Amino acid sequence: MSYNDYSADENRPAHAGGQHSPIPVHFHSEINELYQPEQAELHLASLLTDLGERNLYDAAAQCSRCGYCETVCPTYMLTGRETLSARGRNQFVRMLVEGRAARVSDSAEALSTCLLCGACSSACFARVPTPDIVLEGRRSMTGHGNGLFARAAIRALLDAPKLFAFWLKLAYLAKRTGLPRLAAKMGLYDFIGMPALSGAEAAVTDAPLRFAAELLRRDPELSAGAGRRADWGYFAPCGPNYIFTEVAMATVRVLKRHSGQGIFFDNQCCGLMAHNYGRLEEAREFARRNIARYEELRERFGDFKVIADCSSCAAFMKSYEQLFTADREWRPRARAFAEAVRDILEFIPPERACRAAGGAPGEGAVTYHDSCRACHGQGIRREPREVLRKLAGDRYRELPESDWCCGGAGAYAFTKPELSSRILDRKLRNIASVQASTVVVGATSCLAQIGGGLRRAYPSAKAVHYSVFLDAAGAEHEKNVAR
Ligand code: SF4
Ligand code: SF4
Repeated sequence: MSYNDYSADENRPAHAGGQHSPIPVHFHSEINELYQPEQAELHLASLLTDLGERNLYDAAAQCSRCGYCETVCPTYMLTGRETLSARGRNQFVRMLVEGRAARVSDSAEALSTCLLCGACSSACFARVPTPDIVLEGRRSMTGHGNGLFARAAIRALLDAPKLFAFWLKLAYLAKRTGLPRLAAKMGLYDFIGMPALSGAEAAVTDAPLRFAAELLRRDPELSAGAGRRADWGYFAPCGPNYIFTEVAMATVRVLKRHSGQGIFFDNQCCGLMAHNYGRLEEAREFARRNIARYEELRERFGDFKVIADCSSCAAFMKSYEQLFTADREWRPRARAFAEAVRDILEFIPPERACRAAGGAPGEGAVTYHDSCRACHGQGIRREPREVLRKLAGDRYRELPESDWCCGGAGAYAFTKPELSSRILDRKLRNIASVQASTVVVGATSCLAQIGGGLRRAYPSAKAVHYSVFLDAAGAEHEKNVAR
């Protein structure tokens, strides 16, 4: 059922009530901005919730307003404002669908300040998918996703990735030559869809001039012809590909060391940026291209797992089916692809990860920060901890509030700097409380956010990606064996 299905008899959207919603709804079609036919292409046909497939209204109506999630919602805990809680946000969207909110802009603050961290869903007995509900609400906000630079960046990434890479390198060159402000003024960062970069001078220290995909395409071990099987295919998310190249290279070394033969997926962007900017059709196109690529590679190399080393992208690819619930052809293909996706955090079993590894690299205490899209988005908590505990032994310390968002959340740190830095401060205080020297993370947004915060406030500690940590342990082992 689509968002455009109205039931004239009941004077409300057919999908807004039904057997899931006993609440009588008075439907004002002239002000119901979520369900106007011209908005249909902005919205998902339905949401795949833990209680089954639901339209937006029914998904939001699953929220019983119990408030059980309030204490885990960072924006609520920091501000004490009900409108900035999951309960408040679900209620806003529900009112929008019911036509009880006069203007979408009234909800703009509530919707735009959500971190999409998913902590509320983890705490919720009904697993209400608040981040998806918030994104649906955002897509109805006038102008959301229509900015010239967002559109240009996403189209460039989709249709002209070489041009995208060229502009990004130009921006990096400007940064390296001490002209980051010039680059920002030229609109380069905006053009490449990363306005975050203009404010991220502290976070991105080594702007690479050669991207991971360029290096991996030249690796003969990853591109052997048909006739051999592959156990894994490395999918390079935009963060490791374009910004933290060392993470991508470490992931591939770790996979080669511990997981047999593999290939480079040579992928497109997963589509998360387009999805979160509200450009749903472009997000679908990114997904279709990656799914088709997976099917082509599976023909040549047999069944293999698709490994990503940014938890946000891995979680998004695992949810591809939700993009295609109304598409009979692509839905099963998206589901098959999603079933093959693994986050590097969960892929290598602890006994294997630790078999060919020296102790934990570096000195001092090691701790682990749960990236939101790893723990709340994919339920990954145990696997990386087991590996780190084995490697670090007594040096491992559990981080208080480890599954609280760090405030990075994609470009949130730069679009909502005040809230983001208050959330980050809480994370840094927790890191200081266990006197950690190394904070292991699984998403590049956390790497930039926590890494930048530590350099500023707690320079004796550093943030390290899980792959880089594992790779260093493996290299240490190889050095010991060679001695
Ligand atoms: S999202 Fe879940 S936990 Fe939070 S108020 Fe609604 S029903 Fe309760
Ligand atoms: S996704 Fe995060 S910030 Fe948004 S309502 Fe849920 S807990 Fe709060």
